[in-house]
Amino acid sequence: MTHPIPAADSPRIIPRSDHHISRANISRNALKVLYRLKDGGYQAFIVGGGVRDLLLNRQPKDFDIATDASPEQVRALFGSARIIGRRFRLVHVRFRDEIVEVATFRGLGNEDLESEDRQILNEAGRIIKDNSFGSIEEDAWRRDFTVNALYYNIADFSIWDFVGGMRDVEARRIRLIGDPETRYREDPVRMIRAVRLAAKLDLEIHPEAAAPMQRLGSLIDSVPPARLFDEFLKVFETGHALEGYRRLRQHGLFEHLFPATAAWLSGDVSQGRASGRPGGVADDHRNRFIESALAGTDRRVAEGLPVTPMFLFGVFLWGPVQDRANALRRTGQISEVQALIDAGQEITDVQIARITLPRRFSVPMREMLQLQPRFSRRQGRRAAVLLQHRRFRAAYDLLVLRTELGEVPAELAEWWMRIQTLSPDDQHREFNGGRGGGRDAQRPRPAERAV
Ligand code: ATP
Ligand code: MG
Repeated sequence: MTHPIPAADSPRIIPRSDHHISRANISRNALKVLYRLKDGGYQAFIVGGGVRDLLLNRQPKDFDIATDASPEQVRALFGSARIIGRRFRLVHVRFRDEIVEVATFRGLGNEDLESEDRQILNEAGRIIKDNSFGSIEEDAWRRDFTVNALYYNIADFSIWDFVGGMRDVEARRIRLIGDPETRYREDPVRMIRAVRLAAKLDLEIHPEAAAPMQRLGSLIDSVPPARLFDEFLKVFETGHALEGYRRLRQHGLFEHLFPATAAWLSGDVSQGRASGRPGGVADDHRNRFIESALAGTDRRVAEGLPVTPMFLFGVFLWGPVQDRANALRRTGQISEVQALIDAGQEITDVQIARITLPRRFSVPMREMLQLQPRFSRRQGRRAAVLLQHRRFRAAYDLLVLRTELGEVPAELAEWWMRIQTLSPDDQHREFNGGRGGGRDAQRPRPAERAV
């Protein structure tokens, strides 16, 4: 077993008078669950991100509850509870507007949080025993960071700290529980999690936690792609994308998530187009292009607008796709449009082997990339059709970002912005090069297509 051996003594208990977590900031449903467990004779704590965020004066996005009651015992207490999870069973207590997750304390018997092999299977492959429950102390030691292993006790509103998490919250730093390298090897996603939490909460990553990242980053290469997609969403679609990206690059992790993008950013000659350009200059423009997109995503999240992972994936892949398209054009008889289609497919396939992007996102993403050359024609029927395309808006947003790369004159992006604000008649006039308009001219006539 590679886990640190828990100190055999009891936790440091921080009484209610010595911390500022108030029940007023805990969701009513979570409180209901905690009290019901307590009244049922069980221990009940809030643990993890909820406690951490409250101590840092942030509103937690949810409250996870840990208890010594078994899943069956928890379910027996709640009419609306359901046991979920095949490998580690949790209870979901459902309320009208919220699901509260209740987990039984987990033991140290297994290293990998995600691993399936803690179970003992019978010959038919059925689970006959899940011996993963443990004491609260073991539950604390198997978590990732000290700041994530604080327990808020509903019995007396104290905080239990087995691992020095309170000290680290006060110092605003992220520290692994136990030996960082060991804990990263057990689960390389912890490196990304450390960076993400640091970005989201503006924390420092303890030097001992940061040091192994450059060296161990390549362990991320073997993390299941679906898990990396979940992590991608948490890093890039929750309002801290720009900061997360900067820190991922700083710690040498970004290149393991988007290798082609990282190579393109560094102006790697093998990637094609950048050859002959001074790397620094390329990086500057290219990085600005990426960072503008991330800042835009953060703004949308802050404003409560919807965001889709297909857009940032498209932004990340745009440079590599273009490089590849140009290389294809140099080697064969292939149109610009076809080269972009083929390159989009190739680069996407390689990237998706690293981070899953479900088809409902990858298909529109490639459409968004393929539409780019069409913006250069402002007149004729194809331009009019482009404006009606269901990916127009995303493709237009990418066009605007491309001005950062110097690929698109600002004036062209402005033209496409303005046309969106016009009435259909005026749009039609624009697509006709300033001529025509009126009811009888809603559709471009054949003769005008050649303009
Ligand atoms: P967020 O605010 O993003 O939800 P979080 O810390 O709550 O942050 P979750 O993914 O919800 O993140 O995880 C809940 C808790 O489970 C964590 O606080 C941590 O204690 C534990 N945990 C999550 N992932 C890991 C991991 N990879 N290794 C060890 N413990 C983990
Ligand atoms: Mg959480």
